[in-house]
Amino acid sequence: MVERTVLSGARVVLPSGVVDDGRVTVEGRRLVDAGTAAPDGPRGAATALDLTGHTIVPGFVDIHVHGGGGASFSSGTAEEALTTIRTHRAHGTTTTVASTVTGDLDDLARQAAVLSELTEQGDLAGIHFEGPFISSHRCGAHQPELLRDPDPADVRKLVEAARGAARMMTLAPELPGGLDSVRLLAEAGVIAAVGHTDSDYDATRQAIDAGATVATHLFNAMPSLLHRAPGPIAALLEDERITVELINDGTHLHPSILELAFGRAGADRVAFITDAMGAAGMSDGQYRLGPMRVDVTDGVARIADGPTAGAIAGSTLTLDTAFKRALTVDGLPVEDVVRALSANPARLLGVADRVGSLEPGKDADLVVFDAAYDLVGVMRHGEWIVKPASITGT
Ligand SMILES: [Zn+2]
Repeated sequence: MVERTVLSGARVVLPSGVVDDGRVTVEGRRLVDAGTAAPDGPRGAATALDLTGHTIVPGFVDIHVHGGGGASFSSGTAEEALTTIRTHRAHGTTTTVASTVTGDLDDLARQAAVLSELTEQGDLAGIHFEGPFISSHRCGAHQPELLRDPDPADVRKLVEAARGAARMMTLAPELPGGLDSVRLLAEAGVIAAVGHTDSDYDATRQAIDAGATVATHLFNAMPSLLHRAPGPIAALLEDERITVELINDGTHLHPSILELAFGRAGADRVAFITDAMGAAGMSDGQYRLGPMRVDVTDGVARIADGPTAGAIAGSTLTLDTAFKRALTVDGLPVEDVVRALSANPARLLGVADRVGSLEPGKDADLVVFDAAYDLVGVMRHGEWIVKPASITGT
C-alpha cells in the first residue's frame, strides 16, 4: 500500500489563491489533494501532521545557482554537485538548474558531461552555461582572459556536450555572433538569457526579437537605467516575452529597485534566483568560484585577487531566505512571491506539468514555514528532507 501523509491546519498557497486552515495530501511521491480541510472518507492508514500556524508553499525552483555547502557545480565532480544540490534542498529548492561559470571550452564540456548525467538521474533539471560568451566590460566575477565572442559553432559545441541537458545560456548579444547564437539557442530549445552584457536598448530589443527570453540577474552586470539611455534594463523589463531574474538578498539589489522591477514586470515575469556560490549554507571564510578565490565577509562574497578583485562573486543566498525577505522586507503578497520562486521558473523550464505549484498529480515538492517565515520543513518527491515537528499529530 502506498504511504499516505496528510498535512492539515496550515495556510496553503495554491495557484488559485491562499487557503487558511488548508490541507495537503501526499501519496507516494505525488500530491493527491491540496485545498480546504473538507472531511475525507476513510482511505486507509495515513500519517497526519497538524501544521496549524504554518504556511505550506510549493518547492522552490532555482534556475541560477553555482554552489553551496562548500561545493560547486564547476568543480566538475558529481560529489560536489550533489553536495550543492543537497545544501539547497534543505533550504527549500526542490528543483535545481546547475550554473557553470566562464571557463575553457573543453573544461566546460567536461563539466557538462557530469552535470548531464545528474540531469538524467533526476537530481538536476538541467544546465545553465553562464559565460564564456559574455562582455569583458561586464564580466563581474568571471575570469576576463577566458571570455570569448559567441561564435555559434562554439555555442553549439557546449550545447551538444550537455547531451540534451542544456536549459539556458547567458550571453552578451552585442558581441560578434551574438544574435546568431541567440537564434541557434532558441531553435535548439535552450533558453537564451541576456546578461553580463554591455548592450544598449536597441540591441537588446534585437536580441529579444531573435529569441532571448530571460534577463540574467537584471540590473547586475549590465549598463544602468538612465533617462536618455534606457539600456538593456528598460528593454528587458518592458517586454512581455522576458522573464527577469532577481537576486533578492539585500546586497545585489536595493529594496526600492526590487520593488520597481517587480512592479514593472508583474508577478508572472519574475524569477527569484540565488546565484549562490559555495559559501551558501556555510559561514564566512575563503571559498572558490570556478578558478577564482573568493572572500566571504558578513555573508557577502567578493573576488579576493586578480583583475576583478572586489567584484561581487555571486551570493550566499538560499531561497528560503529570499522568501522570508520578500514577505518581511519587501512586503510582497505571498502568492506573488510563490510565483517568482516556483511557478514562473517551472513554466520557463517547461516542467510546470510536474512542479511549481501545489496541485493534484504533481510531484509532492513542498516547503513549510513557521509563523516567523523560518523554514521548518521540506518535502521532495513525497519524502521529508527536513521534517517539521507536528503540533498534535504523530
Ligand atoms: Zn551566476
